[in-house]
Amino acid sequence: MTASDPTPPLEAELLPPPDTLYADVNDLLRKRRLGLRFGEGLEHAFRRQHARESAAVFRNVVFYVILLYCALGLGIVCLVPWHALDLWPFGYLGVGLIILTAAMLSRTKQFDRNYEWQVAGLASIGMALLVALPFLIRDPLMRQLAMIGVIHAVVVVGAVLGLRFFPALVAMLGGGMTGLLIAGIAGYSPDWLMVHRTFSGGVLIGGFLAWLAEKRSRHVFLQQHLLAMEKARSDALAEQMRDMSRHDTLTGLANRRYFDEVLDHEWLRCRRDGAFLSLLFIDVDFFKNFNDHYGHQHGDECLRQVAGALRGFARRPGDFAARYGGEEFVLLYPQTGPDTAVHLAGEILKAVSDLKIKHRFSSVADHVTISIGVTSMAPGPGAEPEHLVRGADHALYLAKNNGRNRFFFGVGSNFQGPHGGEFNLST
Ligand code: GH3
Ligand code: MG
Ligand code: MG
Repeated sequence: MTASDPTPPLEAELLPPPDTLYADVNDLLRKRRLGLRFGEGLEHAFRRQHARESAAVFRNVVFYVILLYCALGLGIVCLVPWHALDLWPFGYLGVGLIILTAAMLSRTKQFDRNYEWQVAGLASIGMALLVALPFLIRDPLMRQLAMIGVIHAVVVVGAVLGLRFFPALVAMLGGGMTGLLIAGIAGYSPDWLMVHRTFSGGVLIGGFLAWLAEKRSRHVFLQQHLLAMEKARSDALAEQMRDMSRHDTLTGLANRRYFDEVLDHEWLRCRRDGAFLSLLFIDVDFFKNFNDHYGHQHGDECLRQVAGALRGFARRPGDFAARYGGEEFVLLYPQTGPDTAVHLAGEILKAVSDLKIKHRFSSVADHVTISIGVTSMAPGPGAEPEHLVRGADHALYLAKNNGRNRFFFGVGSNFQGPHGGEFNLST
């Protein structure tokens, strides 16, 4: 009756065992200063989640970024006379092309997985272009505009793209250095004051923002994991409690409460399928005598052995064995008609007898025996599960009254109530 466990998410397979992980995460959260790297498995999971989230944000905002970028270009073209634009349109179009490429990549399947290196790579190309541009432009106004563009770009790379600190730094510095190199190759010696005011200053601000953002992401990631692990723990505990509340501690079989649940469920299922449902009520014979003479502990052991034998008769999916209370057990057989139920009752009687648990104080044998009440019903209109239970109970009563160590069968299909049905002696 247990449902199979759902497949764990991919991250769960990569992470250390839950207890170690729980201790690790707790420890990391207690530390005031979180580093920029966790342990192996946790780090891998963080990077994947971080990339996935950053990619999702990027996909959601890239359309608006393109709109904004177009509006910016339009504004500048309207404000600045066409001939004064100098090389600025090349830089603008180059960066625009990079944004469009990233937008197209963000629609591909691999984007989330490769977010960091794809975006960092494109960002470096953009940075190189923007850092080189002010050197190549002669018009002072447009040069200033290009310099402002550098500051914006560095801050965007550091704080907007959702890159981790190191990839962001590599994109900023790598791209910037390449830009300076391009300017050098083109024959322009760097104006270091300008470079520091724009690029270096921007890198400091952008880098600091990227560092802060990554710290925050890591903190949130750990808290999410802690919450998820605590939820998994309490779910497991709740499941354990539920399991305990459904099983009998002495025999390990289902208990009466669980049996009642299953009976209702199977009753409805058989009614829907127009199938028979069979119930066997089983009671150990002269068990009080057994207890009185051999002691309660031996009595418990005897019940465990009988339960073990009964468990062997609930093999098919849907078959269900439970301890009903004291020395009474039930076996429920859905989709099973009277013939099979009677056949099974005979086998069960024999199986318990074959345990050969010595019982010198029984009046029917020198070993432990049982009596069984059997009922089969095809649930129909007006019939209730209680009818099945009362029928089996009454059949058991008749088995006891007719000498024990036998089974009685109540004809459940035309069963009219505990006293109105037809019962046959079957052994
Ligand atoms: P009958 O053949 O008519 O069924 O007689 P019986 O002695 O088996 O039935 P009765 O109801 O008189 O006695 C049942 C005994 O089962 C009484 C009780 O001490 C014993 N019993 C019930 N639960 C447990 C248990 O968990 N462990 C042990 N050892 N004994 C139990
Ligand atoms: Mg009893
Ligand atoms: Mg008994």
